[in-house]
Amino acid sequence: MITEFEAEAIKILGDRGISAPVLVEWNRRMVARAGDMGWAPTYNGSIYRIRLSWKLFMAYGVDRIHRTFLHELAHVIIHATFGASGHGENFKSMCAQLGGSMCTKYAGHKYAECATSEYLKSPKKLVYTCTCGAVTLRCRRFTIKQIANRICAKCGNSLRNFQISAYTPSIENIVRQES
Ligand SMILES: [Zn+2]
Ligand SMILES: [Zn+2]
Repeated sequence: MITEFEAEAIKILGDRGISAPVLVEWNRRMVARAGDMGWAPTYNGSIYRIRLSWKLFMAYGVDRIHRTFLHELAHVIIHATFGASGHGENFKSMCAQLGGSMCTKYAGHKYAECATSEYLKSPKKLVYTCTCGAVTLRCRRFTIKQIANRICAKCGNSLRNFQISAYTPSIENIVRQES
């Protein structure tokens, strides 16, 4: 399947006058994302690399992972054409044109046909505990900006005063879950 994806990438890029080679590979552990686009080093520089979640494929099948592949390929095209990354209007338009998938937030009304909710749930790894006992579960650490701006939903205490520990599934008194 990877070979077919790579061949399709060459075809779609070639149709748009882009000759950059693209490496496509499975990532066996990836769950927080369906796929991503980055670069793989070569002997004389680097090439585009698309990584796809093996676990997403196992859960939802070939059509779903193919649409993630097209999403990542849209990133390659937009980067090769404009040097741009992220999910701006150019990206969304290209992604829709290719038939790629987008989360409902990015898709909005305009690209509703791209929207999917078939994603894997990220395992919670961190527990933030307030002095009042309120608990927030997180996949990732809060950023410095988030810590500066957030307060406990229960007592209003600053997030700066929260204790961080590793997640164990038996925790009660959960204020909210975030991913
Ligand atoms: Zn993306
Ligand atoms: Zn609190």
